[in-house]
Amino acid sequence: MKFGGTSVASLERIRAVAAIVRREADAGHSVAVVVSAMAGETNRLVELCSEVGDPAPALDARNVEYDAVVATGEQASAGLVALVMQNLGYRARSWQGWQIPLKTDRAHGKARITDIDQSDIGESIDNGEIAIVAGFQGVADGGRIATLGRGGSDTSAVALAAAIKAERCDIYTDVDGVYTTDPRLTKQARRIPKISYEEMLEMASVGAKVLQTRSVELAMAYHVPLRVLSSFDPPDAPGPGTIICDEEDIVEQNIVTTVTPDFDEAAVTILAVPDEPGRAAGIFIALADANINIDMIVQSASREPGFANISFTTKEGDVERAITLLAGEQEKIGFKTLQSDRNVAKVSVIGVGMKSHAGVAATMFKTLADKGINIQNISTSEIKISVLINADAAEYAVRVLHEAYGLDKKQQPAPV
Ligand code: ADP
Ligand code: ASP
Ligand code: MG
Repeated sequence: MKFGGTSVASLERIRAVAAIVRREADAGHSVAVVVSAMAGETNRLVELCSEVGDPAPALDARNVEYDAVVATGEQASAGLVALVMQNLGYRARSWQGWQIPLKTDRAHGKARITDIDQSDIGESIDNGEIAIVAGFQGVADGGRIATLGRGGSDTSAVALAAAIKAERCDIYTDVDGVYTTDPRLTKQARRIPKISYEEMLEMASVGAKVLQTRSVELAMAYHVPLRVLSSFDPPDAPGPGTIICDEEDIVEQNIVTTVTPDFDEAAVTILAVPDEPGRAAGIFIALADANINIDMIVQSASREPGFANISFTTKEGDVERAITLLAGEQEKIGFKTLQSDRNVAKVSVIGVGMKSHAGVAATMFKTLADKGINIQNISTSEIKISVLINADAAEYAVRVLHEAYGLDKKQQPAPV
């Protein structure tokens, strides 16, 4: 069972969490619980690191001290949940990443889990103790604390579930399932009873917050049955939530399942790059070396013959670094000018039905055109179409697309 930040935001919320854990324990289940930091705590800790000042290496996610600071939020909430469980008369203990140990690589700030030694924690659970695990953190080679990137407690939970061969992994959050779009954006959003790993993965990777991308990858790879549920439902009357499963296990499938916005995008355009082999490589190798993730890429002909324009998007938090870095390489790469635009957002429509149905892109482009929304950039996968548009139009675009694909009207398929 994993509980996110809002679910453990106060002692009152932690007591509600304890009531849910207790329900499962009383039903005879062995339980491991993974918790996030109390809501807002990780942001506060990240902010403190930034305030240390420039050129604060703390701003560089690879600084191990950043991890040492931000991992503390989860340590506190794990301890508190264990205390509350003990007060209710249960045997419970907290586990920090290094105590398990949950091992990671050395990419501090966005580390990946490399191994989980389940022997001690497994033994403790077998002995009837409830394990309360601090999410988001592990220990890298060399013994330093490493954190898994924002939203990483989801990944801790799925990885632990796989390691201890759990029957299932329930992700408790502040919404009662995965919706056709972010329920905070429109009342028309509907809960999806079942969604495929593939769609959930695509959804997470285009920026929906519900689950960290890596957690869905792991669930898919290790066949961990995953559910998203609300910790705000009464413990004795939990809602059905959303089941994330193989595509084959979903009887009725919509062509488009979700519309997902991502406001955390910024566009960079490099104007007049010599149109010859190796120039794009030069740009993207430099960005990769600086650990800057790139999303949508478009190359188009420049007005000047023999030159091309290259645009890409990146996270808003990385755009400053990207610009500084590219400006420093101007001579080497040989471009003329550099532009950036933070006022952009990406809107994606996702659905496995796209593989076998024509016209999904046409509907998307026509809907946006009819509303006068200009598309700056397009990218696609087998089951996804993303467009980059002006950020001011993004919420509106989500609503009109949600309607255009019938997501607000159509009765979602019933759970099987
Ligand atoms: P937690 O703190 O429990 O990890 P998150 O804030 O990471 O929770 O994720 C839950 C949030 O994800 C919800 O509050 C909701 O606003 C957002 N969200 C975005 N897209 C969706 C969607 N399609 N379905 C459900 N929730 C979504
Ligand atoms: N507390 C961490 C964060 O806010 C990890 C998580 O909540 O999953 O990103
Ligand atoms: Mg989360």
